[in-house]
Amino acid sequence: MDQLWAPWRMAYVSQDHDQRDSECIFCHAARHPERAGLQVVRVNEYSIVLMNKYPYSNGHMMVAPKRHVKEVFALNREERLELMDMLAVGCQALEQTLAAQGINAGFNLGKAAGAGVPGHIHLHIVPRWANDVNFMTALADLRVIPEHLETTYQKLKDAFTRLLKKRNEGLF
Ligand SMILES: [Zn+2]
Repeated sequence: MDQLWAPWRMAYVSQDHDQRDSECIFCHAARHPERAGLQVVRVNEYSIVLMNKYPYSNGHMMVAPKRHVKEVFALNREERLELMDMLAVGCQALEQTLAAQGINAGFNLGKAAGAGVPGHIHLHIVPRWANDVNFMTALADLRVIPEHLETTYQKLKDAFTRLLKKRNEGLF
């Protein structure tokens, strides 16, 4: 995927520099979800949901198991079920908070497939809007930012809390 926009890239690059020698970003986020800058939207029993630091579009999230595994078959049944569960909730959250008109969701498994962190499997959930790519292409260098990442983060975090409460009450 090409980068649509990355207005916060420099700030994140600086943060990444501090974490350069530490553990993988998903293990780190699972262990310290409260630390600022990690953008952890949700911590579950077996998985975490976090904002992508290098988003393809506004609201780009990732779901990762808490365990550091790189293969789908290395996930146990509970983890597989929870990843799919988070995909369902994530899609609803994006539709409700950002009015996503479409969603790209999937895995890049292995470096050859473009995985940024090949050692720790993660599912991308990318909201899309009709003509969004064409719109950005037409504007070339001018980056139009629909919403600040922090605002989006808070909205999605609230949406996950709300939706999972409904799910736990058996409403979907
Ligand atoms: Zn890891």
